[in-house]
Amino acid sequence: MKKIAVIGSGPGGLAVAIRLAVLKYQVEVFESNPFPGGKISEFHSEGFRFDGGPSLFTLPGLIDELFQLAGKNPKNYFKYRKLDEVCRYFWEDGTRLNVPADNELFDKIVSEVLDEKPGQTLSYLQDSSFKYEVLSGLFIHKSLHKVSTWLSKDAIKGYLNIFKMGIFGTFHDFNSKTFRNTKTVQLFDRYATYNGSSPYQTPATMSIIPHLEYNIGAYLPEKGMYHIADALYNLAKELGVKFHFNTRVEEIMVENSLAQAIRTGSGIFNFDAVVSNMDVTPTYRKLLPGVKAPDQILNQEKSGSGLIFYWGIKKEFRELGLHNILFSDDYKTEFEHQFNKKDIYDDPTIYINITSKIIPTDAPEGCENWFVLINAPSNSGQDWDLITKMTRTAILKKINRILKTDIEQYIVTEKVLDPIKIEMNTSSSQGALYGNSSNNKFAAFLRHPNFSSQIKNLYFVGGSVHPGGGIPLAISSAKITSEILARIL
Ligand code: FAD
Repeated sequence: MKKIAVIGSGPGGLAVAIRLAVLKYQVEVFESNPFPGGKISEFHSEGFRFDGGPSLFTLPGLIDELFQLAGKNPKNYFKYRKLDEVCRYFWEDGTRLNVPADNELFDKIVSEVLDEKPGQTLSYLQDSSFKYEVLSGLFIHKSLHKVSTWLSKDAIKGYLNIFKMGIFGTFHDFNSKTFRNTKTVQLFDRYATYNGSSPYQTPATMSIIPHLEYNIGAYLPEKGMYHIADALYNLAKELGVKFHFNTRVEEIMVENSLAQAIRTGSGIFNFDAVVSNMDVTPTYRKLLPGVKAPDQILNQEKSGSGLIFYWGIKKEFRELGLHNILFSDDYKTEFEHQFNKKDIYDDPTIYINITSKIIPTDAPEGCENWFVLINAPSNSGQDWDLITKMTRTAILKKINRILKTDIEQYIVTEKVLDPIKIEMNTSSSQGALYGNSSNNKFAAFLRHPNFSSQIKNLYFVGGSVHPGGGIPLAISSAKITSEILARIL
């Protein structure tokens, strides 16, 4: 059996370990944290459970597929439910919009509340589905760095529809041309943040993202988001994958253009191939000191990061659901602050996720577990203590205005996560949530491939490489990586 080392147990690392174990490789995962999951994490405080990272779960079929590959029934390991309601939106002028999972009803509500043409939202979502159908075969499920991809049937379909894919205009311009109410435009512009980019810079191709949430659906695992990591970890263990926790890899030892071994604090381990689930930038800068780094790719602008307040709240707010957005009055200025001034606007859009709305055991009775996220720039040396203090004051005021409350008196437990801590916890370059930003039309080509062209048995998986960040894409990268590896080794 060939031996493979996987560095990191984020969703991409777990998924690649499972796929390689199914293909009968002997797999060992080295993880610097004491637990699996990477940015998917959880913690408990004073009777509250909080998901530390991702809160939105789409494309659950990608997780099911891993169990099916291993010959197991996913339902015995991993249960999740489809949400009846996608999100609740709040604006300062009192406008509120609860978005149901039923698209026809959504269209009706948008035309009633935001005065859009009946059918307009449905046709937007159909276009989103069409773009997904054309592009997913090309960009999501295959390596962009293999000639065979560009000669495939999917590629020909892409060439034939290239002018319908929104590559040449911005996402915001596309949404503005589609909808007449600036609030509807803002609602759809928000999907740029799902891969940490700005709707004013990222191409209109991003209108593919709403397809996942509206046409396929938004989901929540039965035991919260950490259930994803836990279920994949248990599956990997059942398949014989060996895990080394609290074990940071310090070097990938290269000789004769081959990765011969990895060096950790507890020794040197020899392998036939190495797959790095560590962010690709520190993989080159820290683990491969003698190897020429692909600087053009590594120095690209990073995606956005987040400033997160985890609050145990000793009150229930009936007007809030699982996913809630309290919109900024000036979205354009908000993104200018995030991507140009590299700070946080004083009227930021606030995302509040409350899993106890659906999983009552996540908070004591009469209480709620609030995960409050503000889009933040990646870390470039800002004074995060000051930014956190100022942002906390601004969001308390905004929540009070919109929910007509005095929220601070209900906060019984608090923890904060900023870009510096995100980088410390997961080695994510500059604390970015999704690797390189997608703020230009060439972004897909400016992500590192899933293999190394210099070191024959070195591979990459996860949100910092092709096809991109977020749980679904990190899991998709594992399929691409394992297929390339299996063809060679
Ligand atoms: P990561 O999750 O980045 O994990 C990498 C792992 O490698 C870590 O465990 C790290 O400890 C380990 N590692 C790194 N270096 C070493 C080393 N030298 N030795 C050993 N181990 C090492 N995505 C969504 O889909 N939906 C969301 O709602 C969402 N919200 C998010 C909110 C927050 C606050 C954060 C932080 C992220 C969010 N994301 C969301 C993004 C998502 O979490 C990431 O895209 C995804 O986790 C990336 O997975 P990955 O496989 O690249 O590994």
